[in-house]
Amino acid sequence: MRAVVLGARGEPELADIDEPAGGGEPVRVLACGLCGSDVEKIGVAPAGTVLGHEVVAETADGRRVALVHHSGCGSCPRCRAGHESTCERFPEPTIVPGGFAERVRAGGWLELPADVSDARGTFVEPLACVLRGAERVPRGRVLVVGNGFIGRLFGAVLTRRGDEVFAIDREPARAGRPPDGPVDAVVLCAAGGGEAALRTVEPGGTVLLFADAGVVPVDPIYRRELTVIGSRSASPRHMAEAVALLPEIDLPDPTVLPLERFDEALALHRGAGALKVVLTP
Ligand SMILES: [Zn+2]
Ligand SMILES: [Zn+2]
Repeated sequence: MRAVVLGARGEPELADIDEPAGGGEPVRVLACGLCGSDVEKIGVAPAGTVLGHEVVAETADGRRVALVHHSGCGSCPRCRAGHESTCERFPEPTIVPGGFAERVRAGGWLELPADVSDARGTFVEPLACVLRGAERVPRGRVLVVGNGFIGRLFGAVLTRRGDEVFAIDREPARAGRPPDGPVDAVVLCAAGGGEAALRTVEPGGTVLLFADAGVVPVDPIYRRELTVIGSRSASPRHMAEAVALLPEIDLPDPTVLPLERFDEALALHRGAGALKVVLTP
């Protein structure tokens, strides 16, 4: 089958690879979103890696589903404390080999409503991650740093629950409404920016790390009594909530390209030429 595979020098290339074997159920990929975390793995992950985890697929019995990307055991102390993504079982692959392929073996899924397109269905996984992160953000005035696709999802989710949301981005074209004073919480969706976040938030405020923030000075956390909290990935509960909420999320349709044009998808992502790119086999 065809898949986009990382080559010997780490660069993605279209290749013919063996059908996936092992556990899980075989499904046919319909669409897979390109995520910033995929792009970060290019040149880092070993040769032969197939990226892609925001997958919409068709099951053997014809159902259209969003695949679950990693899941905790659900019963260990970390899972019960709500830190499912730190569960020992969490790193086990649930989408094999990866979503930028014609077929994968899937460890779990949620059925999609008929009125959600294949391309928009790929929003379920990132939306689930955002819903989980948003639960750790106190209500009030919230600044989102990094107003790309994930930042926009945060904006939609936080606005919907009644927060006053501001957003900034290094790309002028993506800038949202800048804050007009201190905020109660900052959500960091972009690499870097940690130090600025600690200055923008009210004393006693919260900073949610949803991306690698770089080196963050600890002195303002101490003197300004801030809460700095991390959130990474999603849980099955948040996947279910994302499926239910997706039709109400007002975000533009993604740019859809075939797997053959992966390089173009990558260039659009890196150059902020598209808010979101989705690939279809
Ligand atoms: Zn993702
Ligand atoms: Zn667990």
